[in-house]
Amino acid sequence: MMIVGLMLFVGGCQKNSVPSDALNGIDPVGLAKHIRTLSSDAFEGRKPTSRGEDLTIEYMTRTFEGLGLEPGNGTSWVQEVPMVSITSDPEMTLTIERDEGVRDFSYGSDFVAWTQRVIDMSVIRASEMIFAGYGIVAPEYGWNDYEGIDVRGKTVIVLVNDPGFVTDSVAQFNGRSMTYYGRWSYKYEEAARQGAAGVFIVHETEAAGYPWEVVVGSWSGPQFGLVTEDANLSRPSIEGWLTRTAAVELFAYAGLTFSEFEERAVYRDFQAAPLNVRANIAIQTQVERSISNNVAGRIVGSQRPDEVVVYIAHWDHLGRDESLEGDQIFNGALDNATGTAGLIEVAEAFTLLDPPPARSVLFLAVTAEEQGLLGSAYYSDSPLYPLNKTVAAINMDGLNTLGPTNDITIIGLGNSELDAYLETAASAHGRVVKADPEPEKGYFYRSDHFNFAKEGVPALYTHAGIDHVELGEQYGRDMRQKYVAERYHKPTDEYDGTWDLDGAVDDLRLLFEVGYRLAQGPDWPNWAENNEFRAARDQMMGGVRTNN
Ligand SMILES: [Zn+2]
Repeated sequence: MMIVGLMLFVGGCQKNSVPSDALNGIDPVGLAKHIRTLSSDAFEGRKPTSRGEDLTIEYMTRTFEGLGLEPGNGTSWVQEVPMVSITSDPEMTLTIERDEGVRDFSYGSDFVAWTQRVIDMSVIRASEMIFAGYGIVAPEYGWNDYEGIDVRGKTVIVLVNDPGFVTDSVAQFNGRSMTYYGRWSYKYEEAARQGAAGVFIVHETEAAGYPWEVVVGSWSGPQFGLVTEDANLSRPSIEGWLTRTAAVELFAYAGLTFSEFEERAVYRDFQAAPLNVRANIAIQTQVERSISNNVAGRIVGSQRPDEVVVYIAHWDHLGRDESLEGDQIFNGALDNATGTAGLIEVAEAFTLLDPPPARSVLFLAVTAEEQGLLGSAYYSDSPLYPLNKTVAAINMDGLNTLGPTNDITIIGLGNSELDAYLETAASAHGRVVKADPEPEKGYFYRSDHFNFAKEGVPALYTHAGIDHVELGEQYGRDMRQKYVAERYHKPTDEYDGTWDLDGAVDDLRLLFEVGYRLAQGPDWPNWAENNEFRAARDQMMGGVRTNN
């Protein structure tokens, strides 16, 4: 009797129970081996288009093949990503003209500017300047800073972050938590959609989250980007930042008070306003084209192979810097050999399922995350499998190396219905899901899943928990700070044989369980009602949502 009862029980739960054999495919020994190899000096810091890339691509391909995956791109294991590096000559001046006279602003101290257009010289002349508030068009908040004004050929000045940062109202752009509309990348993209010739964001340290020096440092020198068929001519001619001081002076030169405009911009009835001055700037560029690669392996679904769950991890890191004394190699062991190794381990777990999952599962190791999420941007723009058949994207960027934690962090908790999948998996293992302790920093927008989100595909991005099982929360917080201070993006981010990868294995098993349930079931989890990516998903799925 007991046995019959037990069998019924097992049968009844089969839909949601995860086969433990598959879970055992994720183990700390395999994980350590892949991390050690990928972050070894031989791989030279895995810089896109370097010899380190060749070795990484070969390793990933060989490993995927060895696991019995199918090539993810037809008969090929890679997706070529055409990239361009553009260096804008800092010998440039922003000249503002009014009806009588001109005033020059200096590169570096007043502004930085560049072009993403793949041309030798990018110029704007006598381009009318418009203050466009936060430069946001957000239908779900009933917000349009470009309403009633035509900025084609003109140069817009916009504020950094979003109105919620100032008003702290949750109903307005999610309070101080940054929304996508607050990111600089959004501001440039929206200005491009509006047809602006030039766009300058006014820098403000607190609202940006970093000081002016960081702006200058990250926007001078070669900038890697993707190339569209029109050689990026759909981008504005000029993109840039102004210091707040320069903005105040520019407005004063126009006979206006910057702070008044700044204050008005947080209200919904704000109207973009011409400044009655014109911008002039010419940027000389040096252009270099190159090709990098995303690696893709796939398990073909046994019932609905055209529907796909995607796991992503960026394989690239910063390479080497020959100007450094001593260690020149940025090994990127944690960032992101751990995530790439995790991708392999999760793939291995899926190969142990018999029969294969109902839906297909794609394992995508993307390139050039460190140069601005380029590999994932390229994939999201030219997907190997249609995005409206892509159930979810699960991103791994930096795994736990400190040992088991009671918690796991969701970056952007509350964004989508995928949270519930992770919560179910976590609680089955006596663990809890926690929110990002620093939502104002906009981490959700800083790794590869974001490019899927932007197109509408629901995305899950977790970080290691901080509540260490043996040593507690303070230890977890201290160690995280220590990593950021001593290792993050430095040659010291190296593999360490004393790492405890059991916590990473726990987290990977949870992510496997999430993907497993998605791949077995018929559901199409969506973004939360008020989320900024929801409209894109609803639209690609044919208007009304079809969650069963
Ligand atoms: Zn990373």
